[in-house]
Amino acid sequence: MKIQFWGAAQTVTGSMHLVEINGKRLLLDCGFYQGKRQESYERNQNFPFNPKSIDAVILSHAHIDHSGNLPNLVKQGYDGPIYCTPATADLAEIMLLDSGYIQEADVEYVNKKRRKKGLPAVEPLYTQRDADMVKWQVQPKKFYESFEPVPGVNARLVENGHILGAAAAQMDLHEKGRRKPRRLWFSGDIGRFGQPLLPDPVMPDHVDYLLMECTYGDKPHHDPEMAFDEFRSVVKQTVQRGGKVIIPSFSVGRTQELVYHLNRMVTYGDIPVLPVYVDSPLAVNATDIFRKHAKDFDEEAKSFSKDGGHPALVFPGLVYTRSVEESKNINDQKGPLIIISASGMAETGRILHHLKNNIEDPNNTILIVSWQAPYTLGRRLAERDTEIKIFGEVYHRKAQVETIGGLSAHAGQDLLLRYAQSTQHKLKQVILVHGELKGAEPLTALMKQHGIENVIYPAAGDVLEG
Ligand SMILES: [Zn+2]
Repeated sequence: MKIQFWGAAQTVTGSMHLVEINGKRLLLDCGFYQGKRQESYERNQNFPFNPKSIDAVILSHAHIDHSGNLPNLVKQGYDGPIYCTPATADLAEIMLLDSGYIQEADVEYVNKKRRKKGLPAVEPLYTQRDADMVKWQVQPKKFYESFEPVPGVNARLVENGHILGAAAAQMDLHEKGRRKPRRLWFSGDIGRFGQPLLPDPVMPDHVDYLLMECTYGDKPHHDPEMAFDEFRSVVKQTVQRGGKVIIPSFSVGRTQELVYHLNRMVTYGDIPVLPVYVDSPLAVNATDIFRKHAKDFDEEAKSFSKDGGHPALVFPGLVYTRSVEESKNINDQKGPLIIISASGMAETGRILHHLKNNIEDPNNTILIVSWQAPYTLGRRLAERDTEIKIFGEVYHRKAQVETIGGLSAHAGQDLLLRYAQSTQHKLKQVILVHGELKGAEPLTALMKQHGIENVIYPAAGDVLEG
């Protein structure tokens, strides 16, 4: 067995690992690399292997940094199955279409500039039409249903409490010439215990090779309920000032979590009924999928919906907006109100208009609810820059900026350690991916302190043979 780490290797985005066994090739995730524009384009465009040589793909969850390069893989000749859970299949379909739309729009913008300089036009990485082709190869597998992606690999997808449909992949490898099977466990993105809406992550057991994320390897997380309390106090304070709370948020997962939290605040009388806008067509579509797969929610969310009389993702005051017209109308509304809009790192999308319109009013709050990549507008806001460029124009930020780290959908350091510990004594190797060095280093040290010696942190292209 051989694993080659091609993405989310010593970085966070572009999750992609190639397992070779019994002469077959199984790809784990096919994510989008996100970074500086030109580098991202080249890395996503050029696979380090021939897409036609892949026999099967397992997709851990729908987030773009795990699924986003599938349209390219298919476009470049991959015609095999893509295994994932039914909720992931539904979410990936809308997210990839959205991503195709963004690729087309981005290239249009780039080409406008290139034309002015007399340079030839460039092609989008993929189009909406390319993205739409992926679904024909998706083969949904329910949680715990076993399947054989390539001969000799018995796989099951298990819950990991990250986003709706998100899974870890348990793979029992029956390798030719070996007496005993060995277990490879791919964590995908590890969620958290007590995460709103979602069941707790299933802990790995009897694992030989643990391929796991380490995004927050450097710090333990607070209890998700503490994040809820922080969120509530930010909302309350802004509401008292009559201001607006502007929240850049990922459309899938985080937005539904915020809506569920706000539902609880309104239902329990913590805040008055006020307009809450979810202004992102993708978030609206994703919410429909969340409601379709409500059987995957945890018990608390299911019983809250029953007791409160409102379904978990609908409550008085909440408005989902799809059209541009509806979105523009929000500008004319006076506070207090809340706007949740994409993109999550404030790089593209409708959030830019809401920021531009509200950033100079000290009554307003810009609320950052997730990790922000370097060089993004979200990162500059989180760092409380006062001069903020939006659509090429400089704005003087007077709105307050608050950040809530604890809303993360990722495990903190404490859970990451527990995750590795739960594998029991068969463990031969921990492979840390999906994290920067500042997360991997302290986690490696901590694991060693707890007797887990074999921890590696491979670079892109590194190979593990076992
Ligand atoms: Zn994720």
